[in-house]
Amino acid sequence: MTVLDFERLVRTEHSARLYLLERCESAGAPRCPACSREKLYVVEGGKRRRCARCGHTFNPFAGRWLNAAKIGAREWLWLVKLFELEAPATVAAAETGVSYPTVLKAIGAIRRAIAGASGPGHAGCGTPRDRMRLSDLAAGEDGPDRIEAVAEERIAFTMNVGDDCLIMTNRRLECPALVCCGRKLDVVDRGNSFPRLRVYCSAKGFWPFAKERLVKYHGVSSEKLPWYLEEMAFRWNGRGTPLFESLLDRLCAYAPAAPPGPGYRAPRSKTSSATANESFEPSHETDTS
Ligand SMILES: [Zn+2]
Repeated sequence: MTVLDFERLVRTEHSARLYLLERCESAGAPRCPACSREKLYVVEGGKRRRCARCGHTFNPFAGRWLNAAKIGAREWLWLVKLFELEAPATVAAAETGVSYPTVLKAIGAIRRAIAGASGPGHAGCGTPRDRMRLSDLAAGEDGPDRIEAVAEERIAFTMNVGDDCLIMTNRRLECPALVCCGRKLDVVDRGNSFPRLRVYCSAKGFWPFAKERLVKYHGVSSEKLPWYLEEMAFRWNGRGTPLFESLLDRLCAYAPAAPPGPGYRAPRSKTSSATANESFEPSHETDTS
């Protein structure tokens, strides 16, 4: 999608909403969040839908990933566009006028939508401890000087892809460098936002691509790291191609009714009818009138 095409979509809230509804329909047939019936009436001038069976009235985005953030259709499209262009959340907030916390919530929903219903595929895919061969490096040395196994409790997250590996340790690991499988690992995270955690990874294949991006976050928690890696893999697999429509298709899909993996927080559900969605963020709230 060119910038000119995008400009036409976001020209008015009405045009943006029509486009989002169209993408939602192609991502999954509209259905009642209470009884799953697909026969619905358009009510309140198109703002809501009413179920033909149970009479439930709801927002047409209910149950989908993009329902996690209560923002307008134009704002959603702009946030997806800015996410595609890898604009920082602070920039996205400033450019759209959406509050920073809401932008973070929307970006979190995009990342979870990318991972999809099954959650991040990397979770739990750590390098076996006996294959990690971690060791500290003495300061000023080029090669391993003293081989000393890193205590298990200092490792927050590991994963390996082929010969590459990524290791996140807590801040108590005060060594100048770390070696995994004979290779010196680079420190990725030098930020202070999550000072207890650091990410190390080697530098070939997918990792230079992912590392360049992870560095910009100045700290990612071990719980959220799998979702960030899903985003990196998505960008890596789609590199050189526009991602906007692919992102929207995922965002417009229905979210699962159970947490697919780590990093989920239970929403503050207010409606008694929302019993099926107590443990995931994309709200199935129905705007009952
Ligand atoms: Zn119904």
